[in-house]
Amino acid sequence: MKECDVLVVGAGPAGSGAARASALAGVKTLMVDKKKEIGTPVQCGEVIGLELVKRSGIRIPANAIVAKHGFTRFVLGREVVIDNSEAYWHAVTVERKIFDKHLAFRAASAGASVQADTKLLSVKMDGNAVKNCLLSHQGGEVELSPKAIVAADGVHSTLSKELKAEFFSTKDVARGVEFELVAKRDIPQCMQIFIEPEIGLGYGWIIPKGKRRANVGLGLVGVNASRRSFLEDWITGHPVVSRYFDVDKVLEVKMGDAPVPGFLGGPVRGNVLFCGDAAGQTLAFVGEGIMPSYICGSLAGKHAALLSQGKGQRYEEDLVENMADQLMMGAVLRDTLVELWSSEDLDGRARSLLSGAVMNELVSPDDLKCSLNALEDDPLGAFKELVKGSGRDIKVKRC
Ligand SMILES: Cc1cc2nc3c(=O)[nH]c(=O)nc-3n(C[C@H](O)[C@H](O)[C@H](O)COP(=O)(O)OP(=O)(O)OC[C@H]3O[C@@H](n4cnc5c(N)ncnc54)[C@H](O)[C@@H]3O)c2cc1C
Repeated sequence: MKECDVLVVGAGPAGSGAARASALAGVKTLMVDKKKEIGTPVQCGEVIGLELVKRSGIRIPANAIVAKHGFTRFVLGREVVIDNSEAYWHAVTVERKIFDKHLAFRAASAGASVQADTKLLSVKMDGNAVKNCLLSHQGGEVELSPKAIVAADGVHSTLSKELKAEFFSTKDVARGVEFELVAKRDIPQCMQIFIEPEIGLGYGWIIPKGKRRANVGLGLVGVNASRRSFLEDWITGHPVVSRYFDVDKVLEVKMGDAPVPGFLGGPVRGNVLFCGDAAGQTLAFVGEGIMPSYICGSLAGKHAALLSQGKGQRYEEDLVENMADQLMMGAVLRDTLVELWSSEDLDGRARSLLSGAVMNELVSPDDLKCSLNALEDDPLGAFKELVKGSGRDIKVKRC
């Protein structure tokens, strides 16, 4: 491995976005990942919202797309179904093993060096800047002195620990667990989000990967039970989910943590720019992080290149211009959901119905109380009224 100007640690979407942008800026860029194969193991539902794909300017390769969804279905309290066909909720499911490798390929094609199976072990400081990075590589250790570093090393970032710059606490991290399952019968071709007291704050999902294959999982907040048995019990005990799935055809088990802290500005420490999950850059109300990480990573890479050339960086300003609307909207919705699920005045049914109304932006976070009585008395009628008034492409029916 040769010396570089910009070292990118982590080759997920954030790292590959950063390495590509840095290489395109003409500086010597090296991206490393501790995984033997970039993209595996997968720890993700693999669904990507198309609005942010447009914003990113990338084209998802056809061989990475395994399903397309023209709407997202919300199942509230096992009682009400909302089918939201607004453009924001159009999505595709990708094979992340293919997609992440494709992003790394684009970074390499732009001129970045890429080394899988290479782990950042520790750093040495000079004042508030990182001077040396110690990496494990090919059974030995290598020391590099990059001028700037992009920390794209995920939710449990080594760099944030090394720099004592932990940007969010464990309470801002959702615990995810998911099975890739073979279905008993054809499944609806849309992403399904389940909001209900049985899960609490957080949600369940079915993300199709074809007619008879899907990622079925849970994002758990404040639940300490064993993830795998919680998911097995949820699938087998759920009247809708168990119609389609048993837990006897598990193709893959995927577990991981998703940061959902909201917008943290542009986290920079000395010559280290943090991005992606390492900087909590997800849409906090759903934990969607693939495209936000790629977009924010690209900005971090561009500004790391400037820094390595001795120029001033404007990472935070660029983030505010390009992504703050999305990240802040996600944070406002997340805060409202947290408030609902911690309110002692509400029971599980009211929390589920109101969460669905908030996530579909049918009621504003400031207007929750007004909608509550009508929703509790006649949820179907009340949702239909809210939809009529909103002019949105949403259908409501009984579960
Ligand atoms: C269960 C679950 C389901 C999810 N579902 C979705 C979904 O459907 N859609 C969506 O958009 N988002 C989803 N997310 C979130 C999404 O997966 C992440 O937000 C996204 O992967 C973040 O990208 P990243 O590049 O920042 O981090 P990562 O993808 O985590 O990449 C970080 C990389 O850094 C490497 N690394 C870590 N430490 C070191 C080190 N010391 N040295 C070298 N390399 C290192 C890791 O090996 C890893 O490859 C989900 C998350 C979870 C946990």
